[in-house]
Amino acid sequence: MKMYFKMLAALMLSLVAMSTAVAQEYDLVINDGRVMDPETKYDAVSNVGIKDGRIAVITKDKIKGKETIDAKGLVVAPGFIDGHQHCIEPYAYRSMLRDGRTTILDMEIGAHGPMLNEWYTRREGNAQVNYGAAVAHEFARAAVLDGFNDWKYLYTPDAIQSRLTKQGWSKTRPTLEQGNQILSLLDEGLQQGGLGIGSTVGYMREGVSAREIFELQKLSGRYGRFIDMHFRYTPGTDVTETNGIQEMLANAAALGTPAIAAHFNNPGYNMVHELLVRMRERGYNVWGEIYPYAAGSTALNAVFLEPEMWVKTLGNKYEDTLQDVATGEFYTQQTREEMLKKEPTRVVLVYKIPKSAIIDWIKMPGVAIGSDGMPLFPDDNLTWDTAYEDLPNTHPRFAGAFAKVLRLARENNIPLMQAVSMTSYNYAKPLGDMGLKAMQVRGRMQKGMVADITIFDPATVTDHSTYEKGTLPSTGIEHVIVNGTLVMKDQEPLKGVNPGQPIRFAPVESLFEPLTKEGWQSTYYASPIDFGGGVPGSQPDVE
Ligand SMILES: [Zn+2]
Repeated sequence: MKMYFKMLAALMLSLVAMSTAVAQEYDLVINDGRVMDPETKYDAVSNVGIKDGRIAVITKDKIKGKETIDAKGLVVAPGFIDGHQHCIEPYAYRSMLRDGRTTILDMEIGAHGPMLNEWYTRREGNAQVNYGAAVAHEFARAAVLDGFNDWKYLYTPDAIQSRLTKQGWSKTRPTLEQGNQILSLLDEGLQQGGLGIGSTVGYMREGVSAREIFELQKLSGRYGRFIDMHFRYTPGTDVTETNGIQEMLANAAALGTPAIAAHFNNPGYNMVHELLVRMRERGYNVWGEIYPYAAGSTALNAVFLEPEMWVKTLGNKYEDTLQDVATGEFYTQQTREEMLKKEPTRVVLVYKIPKSAIIDWIKMPGVAIGSDGMPLFPDDNLTWDTAYEDLPNTHPRFAGAFAKVLRLARENNIPLMQAVSMTSYNYAKPLGDMGLKAMQVRGRMQKGMVADITIFDPATVTDHSTYEKGTLPSTGIEHVIVNGTLVMKDQEPLKGVNPGQPIRFAPVESLFEPLTKEGWQSTYYASPIDFGGGVPGSQPDVE
């Protein structure tokens, strides 16, 4: 009899549990939207229930939540992932949300290795979007070769200062000892959980040997992580651009390590794309990104803008291709030289390819969108509240890159699923595949995934940022959810709502082994004399 009551009680308890499951209240419900998942290609009007920061259900049944979003007529897509954003600051967050971005990562320049942890700590609990950084090759070189130590931001914006006076970071071939110091600084960042190594070798083409790049890829590869590279010859011709990525891909193939091609929206892009696709078919984790604009943006003193390269080798005229971002005026060789004396790192726009190429890029499957958004200067008084129009002018990719892709896809009959994949999954996939857990559960609209969600109107979504006013926000992106929390409602970012999470690896022990001549000799016989693999400028012996 006692047994009977026990069983009855257990049965009643389980009935109670079942009925609460049916009537389960979600934290947030998105009703009647067109849910699109780039991984499974699911594409259907459904309801999405979110609980504890995750997608708990995607169903055609009616569901209820504490808060409800009506998404009728709207697309419910994975939150946009921008893997190439040099400005991860509060004054940028509203613009990022208006453009649908829920994760912004600085993977091309990145953060200074020993300060990576602090870079993350500064954003803890006060970021509206998820954030992360690679470890910066350029800053390791500036620290070792120039003694640069004037850190303020700990990542890309510090380049304005570090590129200013000394050029050792760009032009010096390190000795073996200096090379080991550079690698060791990078290693500190990898130990602290940096996403990979970011290398702007295109700005350091004289100083960085083929050996140095190879050793960087070896080091990040020990941790299973990528190199993200601004190629050695970017911006270049269809030959030199391609040769630039071939350097990175040959190393990736020899070492079996992941690699990301930064902004290959340059001459030679069709060849670069085919290289990436074919290597992925062979199992290599190599990917590329583009930003949908015909002009780039950089500092006036970039080595590739010197007359020898920009005019003589590449055949450009300053009058047609080099524009001041603040004044809108085009430079001549003379005005460029004058400005170099006054403000060498002044930000400029660089026109380098016909506009028609942009549509080609968005048609290429597998490509990710990396905005390459630039830090804004002067930034002394910029806050979250600074009006969009009052932000200093910058390349329009800062505010509009993602909405522009959606608009161009609509205007050129490119399948919406492809655009959705480019804006989210095409970054989440390679990063997740290299073991980054945070990216194995993002970039996908599936049950169990983290609820980073961008909800937009496919018929109207558009960018408004232009070369004249690069900070105007996109429209048509209606609601944005980050880690299950609504951060933008009816195109209005919600101040003080900061659910952004760090995107990083857990700290690990060092895997760095300093390079030695003996070590090289015992394995490969031919020992380089220095880190560069030889003595630069030495004369061959005549026998
Ligand atoms: Zn770049």
